[in-house]
Amino acid sequence: MIRHKSFTPAPLHTLYFIATPIGNLQELSQRAIDTMTLVDKIACEDTRVTSKLLHHLNFKKPLIPCHEHNESIASASIIAAILNGEKIAYVSDAGYPGISDPGQRLIQQALKADIHVVMISGPSAILNALIGSGLSTERFYFHGFLLPKEGPRLDELKDLYTRKETLVFYESPHRIETTLKNMLETLGNRQAVIARELTKLHEEYIRGTLQELSEIDPASLKGEMVIVVEGNKDEMSIKLSDDEIRKLVQNLTETGISMKDAIRQVSEMTTLNKNYIYKLMHRN
Ligand code: SAM
Repeated sequence: MIRHKSFTPAPLHTLYFIATPIGNLQELSQRAIDTMTLVDKIACEDTRVTSKLLHHLNFKKPLIPCHEHNESIASASIIAAILNGEKIAYVSDAGYPGISDPGQRLIQQALKADIHVVMISGPSAILNALIGSGLSTERFYFHGFLLPKEGPRLDELKDLYTRKETLVFYESPHRIETTLKNMLETLGNRQAVIARELTKLHEEYIRGTLQELSEIDPASLKGEMVIVVEGNKDEMSIKLSDDEIRKLVQNLTETGISMKDAIRQVSEMTTLNKNYIYKLMHRN
């Protein structure tokens, strides 16, 4: 077991992880600015993005690129530099490093090297979206981005069907239309919120059912967005595998009722969306 105290005594070898603004630069904390000023170098996801941030703050620092394609190698040299006495901070392009952004490997390798990690808090799209959504904050589940291909994405969503916590997803504008339709098919017509362009000039919360949200003109859904979906409220919902659902429909059709009626009955029994079951029955 290892116990790290952040402030007393000041640790010798420290890596600072700093959360940066998700839009509005005024949300960069004084502590984040002080830390960026104090360190010798800043490791970052994209040197162009971090240069702009430093330009806004009116100072320069040597930057070390550390992104998803070089994180292991870059982490090794950042760790060597810290062990050599340099003070280094890490920032991603926006928000918290390590949350759908690089940083996790760097932290893990730093901890293995007995380097102390200090987190400097800041803005978070997850929390703004969740709390601003008005949906339950008592328990929530953060999923990040769904898989890009529709088949695996439907499977992922279906696995979340029985979760009672509020569900939080990241999404990009070019996939939002399909994703909302996929959510409607797999999760049913729940309350949901699209939280768009948070902390920026065009910030918007769109609240409605998944049916209503999936009918919005996708051209009006630009920029960065988070989707927040109500958790499963149905105490009776049963979690079945795709094969079990197919078997249920088949058993019903074997008794002589039509495929359409069998799908409707299974949908009522399981509270799964009819379209989802229909697609399942017609998938090879
Ligand atoms: N590290 C970041 C964090 O802590 O939130 C997330 C980086 S991830 C590559 C980018 C995704 O975060 C976007 O596609 C969007 O889903 C969400 N996001 C980031 N900034 C946002 C904003 N201002 N408004 C809404 N969503 C945002």
